[in-house]
Amino acid sequence: MKNILTIAGSDSCGGAGIQADLKAMSAQGVYGMSVITAITAQNTQGVFAVEELSKEIIEKQIEVIFEDIEVHGVKVGMLSSKYIIDTVLEGLKKYKVKNLVIDPVMISKSGYNLLRPEAVEALKKLIGIGDLITPNVPEAEVLGEIKIKNEDDMIEAGRRIQKMGAKNVLIKGGHRMDSPTDILITEDGRVVKYKGKRFETKNTHGTGCTLSSTIVSYLGKGDSVEEAVQKGKDYISKAIENSFDLGHGVGPVGHFI
Ligand code: PLP
Repeated sequence: MKNILTIAGSDSCGGAGIQADLKAMSAQGVYGMSVITAITAQNTQGVFAVEELSKEIIEKQIEVIFEDIEVHGVKVGMLSSKYIIDTVLEGLKKYKVKNLVIDPVMISKSGYNLLRPEAVEALKKLIGIGDLITPNVPEAEVLGEIKIKNEDDMIEAGRRIQKMGAKNVLIKGGHRMDSPTDILITEDGRVVKYKGKRFETKNTHGTGCTLSSTIVSYLGKGDSVEEAVQKGKDYISKAIENSFDLGHGVGPVGHFI
């Protein structure tokens, strides 16, 4: 069994965050573990409150896992604040993690800030130790300081993020209505395009979390970055196709456990 850790925020309605990560990991047949950074009070209509956990409890969760259990891959999601990013960076460096996937979560689909804007510079430092970074177009625009209008701009943003030290960067095109293509910039500078199919559904809560968790699961199982991204794309496409109505707002993607 491969053991995969998610370091992220809790989503009370279970569609995104830690809850989505663990569901996606179970679906890929790996053992999921969690370090919770912040708790959101959230339903399908939005995020209503966030409570960040203390540096001490975040540090301790990381320490006790790594002191006891072999970890084959780590996914990082919502970090919320600079002090959380600094704490996570310290822990990841201390335990020399392998297969580190960073989803640079910034704003929820409902428009809530899941990362304080003043924490972006700290996030860039964390990105410097990532094996794979998975920004969507709005996140890539902030990190790359570039307005993205087409695929060439996506590639340029990816290269800029790579210059921060990241090995591979996957820019997700799902937020661009005219291009559902995701673009991977590999460690050796190649550009790999993953064409996506667009599904007509409003229920897309948790897509980013699910994709990055699936990718890190396959990296932990020994796949190459390109193979793991392809399997992640295949799974998230099925999960979006299988998404469903929940509550009164944006429903979650469906998992296949
Ligand atoms: N809540 C948490 C805890 C998250 O980590 C994320 C995204 O990573 C979201 C909410 C946002 O999910 P979405 O934008 O898919 O609604």
